[in-house]
Amino acid sequence: MSRVYNFSAGPAVLPEEVLKEVADEMMDYNGTGMSVMEMSHRSAAFQSIIDEAEKDLRELMNIPDNYKVLFLQGGASQQFAMIPMNLMKNKVADYIVTGQWAKKAYQEAQKYGKANKIASSEDETFSYIPDCSDLPVSPDADYVYICENNTIYGTKYKELPNTKGKTLVADVSSCFLSEPVDVTKYGIIYGGVQKNIGPAGMVIVIIREDLITEDVLPGTPTMLTYKTHSDAGSLYNTPNAYCIYVCGKVFKWLKAMGGLEEMKRRNEEKAKILYDYLDQSKLFHGTVVAKDRSLMNVPFVTGDKEMDAKFVKEAAAAGLVNLKGHRSVGGMRASIYNAMPKAGVEALVAFMKKFEEENA
Ligand SMILES: *Cc1c(COP(=O)(O)O)cnc(C)c1O
Repeated sequence: MSRVYNFSAGPAVLPEEVLKEVADEMMDYNGTGMSVMEMSHRSAAFQSIIDEAEKDLRELMNIPDNYKVLFLQGGASQQFAMIPMNLMKNKVADYIVTGQWAKKAYQEAQKYGKANKIASSEDETFSYIPDCSDLPVSPDADYVYICENNTIYGTKYKELPNTKGKTLVADVSSCFLSEPVDVTKYGIIYGGVQKNIGPAGMVIVIIREDLITEDVLPGTPTMLTYKTHSDAGSLYNTPNAYCIYVCGKVFKWLKAMGGLEEMKRRNEEKAKILYDYLDQSKLFHGTVVAKDRSLMNVPFVTGDKEMDAKFVKEAAAAGLVNLKGHRSVGGMRASIYNAMPKAGVEALVAFMKKFEEENA
């Protein structure tokens, strides 16, 4: 067996301990004589898997009782429509556009009502987070929307926007469970799990109960109504059962690691190794305003496309894979999620130093 260091933005690296456990349970999950992949989602065995996953997630994030946890399909992108369909009672919502994902959500919302772009960092290729302390929040806005960690550009809100009392909705796909969060500050926190939690194919939605109503936009499909899934405990139809199972394993792994405080400490430590090197390198440069840097996604460039391509190729040959930047921005990007060990980041920096010497 030969494992690489996988810096993919998503689907992404998973903890080896979890992969081994699910491999061990592949033929016979907990004495059932079958894999979780083969199991009815209505079985007692699966009910305890989903119940335990929810319980562990609630514990990790300290989720209050007046929030529901939903395990849904359609990815983060489906939420771009589901959020306005369910929340736009006044048909007005405010969007802060800090990258491609926020922009897509903003554009989708325009189909359902008046979506206002109240701030943006597009003028500087999304390399910073705008000052959100006093934005022109619409008096009748149903919610204010952010993408909290910008996977493609590598920025992160270090402070949540002042929504002037409006409900905050956040896409946390690429920073989910990377550090402690105060759930009470949000109406909805959601994210695709394939970035920092589990395999592809699921989105977790943490939603305040008062936002779950039958009063949705006319024509909203049953499957896109939060109430459908909330009433059915995420089992209205067949869920992505195997993904729920693997995510549950990751929640247990995070708890065993010491929870989100400890993950934050580790993530800061790992990111510092890479940013410190970038700050003194003569060849490689970070692309983001220092104060807004993400702990999860670290984009960098040499300034020379051919040199970038050479680096990505040679790094891959050395077992450091998926370092190519997003197709819309080029350069490189190292995604260093929870499951990326410190040794992986150290190996990357050692390789970058060597590459810098060789290409001086
Ligand atoms: C990857 C990503 C998405 C899209 O996720 P899908 O599950 O592919 O729809 C949305 N938002 C953010 C922040 C992402 O990183």
